[in-house]
Amino acid sequence: MVERRWAVIPAAGHGERFGGRVAKQYATLLGRPVLSWSLAALLAERSIAGVVVAIAPGDRRFRRLAEAADPRVRTCRGGVRRELSVASALDALAGEARDEDWVLVHDAVRPCLCHGDLQALIRAAGHDPIGGLLATPLGDTLKSEGPDGRSARTVPRAGLWRALTPQMFRYGVLRRALALCLERDRAVTDEASAVEALGLAPMLVRGRADNIKVTHPEDRALATAILEAGAKHENRPRLRRPRV
Ligand code: C5P
Repeated sequence: MVERRWAVIPAAGHGERFGGRVAKQYATLLGRPVLSWSLAALLAERSIAGVVVAIAPGDRRFRRLAEAADPRVRTCRGGVRRELSVASALDALAGEARDEDWVLVHDAVRPCLCHGDLQALIRAAGHDPIGGLLATPLGDTLKSEGPDGRSARTVPRAGLWRALTPQMFRYGVLRRALALCLERDRAVTDEASAVEALGLAPMLVRGRADNIKVTHPEDRALATAILEAGAKHENRPRLRRPRV
C-alpha cells in the first residue's frame, strides 16, 4: 500500500512576544502575510495530498489568503495551546489519513522554509522507521540564568541542535504521542518531544539555519532579508505581488 503525505500548520497562536494588534502569522513580509509564505512553501511540494491549517476561532483573515483557495487546503479550529491545535488538525484528517501515512507539521510562523530542505526531510525521514525533523546545530554559547538574572554558568553546546519545522512522523505514531502527552499533562513544544515521550528517537535532518521562527518584532526584517535573498535562488517560492 502506498503511504500518502499530509501537512498540518498550527496557526492559532496570538504571538504575545511579537506585540502589535495583528497575530504574527498575519504580519506582512514583502506584501504577503507570514502564513501565506509558510503555506506556499508546503504547497510547492506536489506529493503532499492535503494541508490542514488550525486557525483561531473567529479568524477572518485566513480565507483572504490566496493559498486558502487551493483545493488541497482546509482549516480546523485550533486549541489554546500549540499541541492542541496540532491534535485538532490530526483529528480533522481522521477517516482519510491512515496510520502509516506521513504527516509534516510546520509552524505558521516559519516563512523561510526552502524547497530543498523540505525535500531533504522527506527523503531522509521517509526512509526512517520513526521519522524526523529539520534541525540545525547550535552556533551560540548557551548561558544558564541564576536567581539574580545574571549568567550563572555556561551550558556545553556540543551535541545540541535547534529544532526547526517541518517535523515528519507517521500519522498513527504522532496521534498516539500527542494523546499520551496530553493525558499526562506533559509540555509539548514540538512534535519530536511528544514522539520522544513514547521512547522513540526521531532523526535529526540538518536544515538551513535561516528557516527562522518569526517570534520577536525584529525577526520581521530578518525574515524579509532571507526571503529576498532566497528569491534569487530557485528553491524558494517566488516573490509575487500581493492580491489587491
Ligand atoms: O507561540 P509559538 O511561537 O510557539 O507558536 C508556534 C506555532 O504554533 C505558531 O504557528 C502558532 O500560530 C501556533 N500555535 C497554535 N495554537 C496555539 C498556540 C500556537 O496553533 N494555541
